[in-house]
Amino acid sequence: MSTRDTALPSSTDVVVIGGGIAGTAMAFYLAREGVDVVLVERGELNREASGTNAGSFHLQLAIHQLSGQGGDAERDRLLADARLSLEAFEVWQGLGAELDGDLDLHLTGGWMVAETEEQLKTLRDKHELEQLAGIETEVVTGDDLRQRAPYFTERLLGATYCPLEGHANPLVVAPLYALRAAQHGAVVRTHVDVLGIDVHGATGARRFTVRTSAGPIDAARVVDCGGAWAGELASLVGLRFPVRSEGLHVNVTEPRPPMFRPMIQHIGRRLTLKQTENDTFIIGGGWPSPAIAPPRRYPTSWHSAAGNTAVAVSVVPGLADVRVVRTWSGVIVFTDDFSPVVGESLAVPGFHACVSSTGFTFSPMFARQLAEQMAGPASASPFPERYSLDRATHRLEFR
Ligand SMILES: Cc1cc2nc3c(=O)[nH]c(=O)nc-3n(C[C@H](O)[C@H](O)[C@H](O)COP(=O)(O)OP(=O)(O)OC[C@H]3O[C@@H](n4cnc5c(N)ncnc54)[C@H](O)[C@@H]3O)c2cc1C
Repeated sequence: MSTRDTALPSSTDVVVIGGGIAGTAMAFYLAREGVDVVLVERGELNREASGTNAGSFHLQLAIHQLSGQGGDAERDRLLADARLSLEAFEVWQGLGAELDGDLDLHLTGGWMVAETEEQLKTLRDKHELEQLAGIETEVVTGDDLRQRAPYFTERLLGATYCPLEGHANPLVVAPLYALRAAQHGAVVRTHVDVLGIDVHGATGARRFTVRTSAGPIDAARVVDCGGAWAGELASLVGLRFPVRSEGLHVNVTEPRPPMFRPMIQHIGRRLTLKQTENDTFIIGGGWPSPAIAPPRRYPTSWHSAAGNTAVAVSVVPGLADVRVVRTWSGVIVFTDDFSPVVGESLAVPGFHACVSSTGFTFSPMFARQLAEQMAGPASASPFPERYSLDRATHRLEFR
């Protein structure tokens, strides 16, 4: 599929900005619903977070990453997030069939491990919430843990196990979404930078003019799928999203005979670890790298490579002599309030967004729901208030 030379129409119903997993999924689901859609990407498809992530499905609540404020509101939010995890899991389960392709999907189950009494208590609290939400996890400690996971260090006090976790191949998913979107009639164009968005008083086809490096496109609606740059795109229509971007580091090793299959995360330290089907280990978990502005690529850091692998070895000692063969980094979007930014703006009707931090896991589900809502508003469920595009501190002045 050529995406560089595709003719760019001067008008469409929906312009999707961003060619990561969120944007390509939006283009696919919209086109499948019969909506006219143009996707523009300033670089290559899947070149940013969606193609540089660690590919894990994070369905257990990662309480250590959350606000830790406790209270009823926090509890309600966590319960709602756990329920959404189930929906994300269901979308992933059917995704290979939906896209008619092999996503290298492996539902291996996943451990979240604890080394201290405090971490173990957090795991137990988290497990209770997950049960309430209907997501299956169990707390495993002592001899049970040693028997089921002899590869863990004896220092671990316990772990939760979730059979729904696993991983898929981030190099495959967004490109396949893009291909299927094009086959359903979407225009997918790379090397087109969005430079400005004019909002007109009118509704319908002339509501927006998206000014791009390849010329203007009039559109009735726009979807911001700009990932780490979603905030910059939102500011073009005068909205301020509660997002920031950070560089993250990932390591991959040489292959070794199978040691374990479940995905492993740590409740209190920065670690995600998995052994892939080709027997290499992918080691990530949020170690930092500098986030340099595009078009420059991102440097890796010895400090992060060493720190990340040291945590991995301290949890799975059998990794001690496995050689790292490659490290890379990518840029991720974080929302300041831990909730995604998904839906339509009330302040700028017609302007939509699909932005989430654990976006490999969640973007397919959010994109599908948002596309259904855009294609037939009456039939689709609205998103919770806390996802609102308008929730940020204040609106910018229109330029
Ligand atoms: C190192 C790393 C590890 C991660 N690990 C996991 C994981 O294991 N599991 C998980 O669920 N999530 C993980 N994530 C998060 C996940 O990768 C992201 O949440 C997800 O990929 C976001 O997808 P996206 O499509 O929103 O953004 P992106 O993939 O970043 O795509 C946004 C696109 O918008 C384009 N764009 C921006 N501005 C413009 C403009 N002005 N004009 C045209 N195009 C523009 C960009 O070029 C980019 O291609 C990880 C992220 C990183 C960086």
